[in-house]
Amino acid sequence: MTTRILTLLMTIGVVACSPGGSTDRDPALARDHYSFANVEQFVTEHIVLDLTVDFEQQVLNGSAMLFMKRKDPDAREIVLDTRDLTIENVHFLVSDGKAWDSLPTEHTVGETDALLGTPLTIRIPDSLADTEQVTPVVEYRTSPESTALGWLPPELTAGGKHPMLYSQSQAIHARSWIPLQDTPAVRFTYLARVRTPPGLIALMSAENDPDVERDGDYYFEMPQPIPSYLMAIAAGNLHFAAIGEDTGVYAEPELLEASVSEFADTQAMFETAEAMFGPYQWGRYDLLILPPSFPYGGMENPRLSFLTPSLLAGDRSLVSVVAHELAHSWSGNLVTNQTWRDGWLNEGWTSYLEYRLMQVIYDEDRAAEENLLNYEELLLNFERIDPKYQALAPRITDLDPESGQGTIAYHKGNLFLQYLEHAYGREIFDQFITDYFSDFAFQVITTEDFVDYLDKRLLSVHHGILTREQVERWMYEPGLPADAVIPTSRNLDDAAQLAAMWSRGEVEAAELPVADWSAQATIHFINALDPDLSTEKLVEIDKALGLSDTQNAEIARTWFMQVATRRHEPAYEQMAEHLRKFGRVRLIRPIYVALAENGRDMQLARDLFDAARGTYHPIANASIGPVLEDDPDGE
Ligand SMILES: [Zn+2]
Repeated sequence: MTTRILTLLMTIGVVACSPGGSTDRDPALARDHYSFANVEQFVTEHIVLDLTVDFEQQVLNGSAMLFMKRKDPDAREIVLDTRDLTIENVHFLVSDGKAWDSLPTEHTVGETDALLGTPLTIRIPDSLADTEQVTPVVEYRTSPESTALGWLPPELTAGGKHPMLYSQSQAIHARSWIPLQDTPAVRFTYLARVRTPPGLIALMSAENDPDVERDGDYYFEMPQPIPSYLMAIAAGNLHFAAIGEDTGVYAEPELLEASVSEFADTQAMFETAEAMFGPYQWGRYDLLILPPSFPYGGMENPRLSFLTPSLLAGDRSLVSVVAHELAHSWSGNLVTNQTWRDGWLNEGWTSYLEYRLMQVIYDEDRAAEENLLNYEELLLNFERIDPKYQALAPRITDLDPESGQGTIAYHKGNLFLQYLEHAYGREIFDQFITDYFSDFAFQVITTEDFVDYLDKRLLSVHHGILTREQVERWMYEPGLPADAVIPTSRNLDDAAQLAAMWSRGEVEAAELPVADWSAQATIHFINALDPDLSTEKLVEIDKALGLSDTQNAEIARTWFMQVATRRHEPAYEQMAEHLRKFGRVRLIRPIYVALAENGRDMQLARDLFDAARGTYHPIANASIGPVLEDDPDGE
């Protein structure tokens, strides 16, 4: 992982920053520096996959057929992204108008880059030198080390009897299970056939039939073009239950009932989102509840959001993650960032739409509470992240697509869109939102495309409200502009005040109005506790609020970060249990970081990580491992 960190820290490729209008474009910024694919010469329009899920070997094997269009008549080779794939054969599919045939060709596997993987170069045979459409077929098998694929033995699933597989392709992991042009700049449709052991079911980011016969042989179609990071697969003992007319949930039978109850508001969210953002373009919207090792809160795989079971708090207090993944059906899946440098177009927009949905589905207070917590997380990010990565769309080409910006793209992007809403009023801005999604549907755009559109459709139409320069400050400068609208929440202010009073002994723990608090208020209370509390006081508040035993994973995360930072050893056993129980990076990484940084517990952090890493997804291990190295900067 040293290379990854080095890439992150190096300042190579810093581009001169000059303000300017629509003509001021640096082509280097519009190019994806995290893919080997020669997309200027060929683009994929359609993929046909044929895969077998082999749980014993922990591999997928089969073939990928790529229907590609030539853009450059002189191009004689195709370069695809791969990582840890064994390439068995490459040929071209050709047709004489009557029958299909196979045309052999040569291929070379290039040198492996630790971050990008391995380029696969396919030579175009002379007989195809002039054809506009070419169809390479790659026969291959994945490795058990595939960075996208989580292979779970039965004991790590809820049921304990059947193995499970799931993928996480974003940002640049699709290449570790499919040889393809792994860049968000290219959209394609796909068909797939997937074989599993009988009795188990396969699901994909495609049309899934809730009533499919469980015969171990499944067919999928994704008729809308998607970028590679939305390729997704799962297989296991998964069952379906409906939530509403357009919505439902897949989970292991043991989690199905709790999931239906926790996510019961999904249909209402779906209908509200359509009313606010324009038509939903993807058919059904279902949820897939994965085992605890899933590294993220959710992943917006189209038609089927993948979710962590850590959202099952029992009181719907964490379902903003579902609002978020659903909102990606517009921001991200429908209108997609051209490169990962433009990631805020996906995540900032989605965080804003999530905020708007939460206001309608729940209430203004709840949305305000979550908004303030996100703002505080953003301020922490500003403290820890190099200023050159703090712009929404830094003018650099070395922004690590997975860790470069922390959550800045999410929360700063959200605040930027709230700033626009505040300046133009909801009515005008809501019209802008639906126009934006309709005008760029199924397209990929850069930050600069967005700013031009914003200028044309909002700034220049409603003169004298905001200038392009004010907008570009958000895009290209670190921190927050001075005129940002800062979130507030009465409920959280009250909780913080009580935290200060209790810390000073002015109020008893038993007098705290805990029963009236949201999970968000409890989180804010914990964060607002005096930094110098005695062990006795911490034991007292832990007991009064039930912090170490909470069923709410976000409260647990917040509390155990404090436990680790303060070296509050009476709660270490429960903290260790939390690190064993969850594999979601957000819930565990900050606790490892706090242990590593508290001056005494680096060895403990390593021991806990060694004990748990076998149950984590490769993405989680890659994210946490470097924190526990002797010299995490790799120097
Ligand atoms: Zn997101």
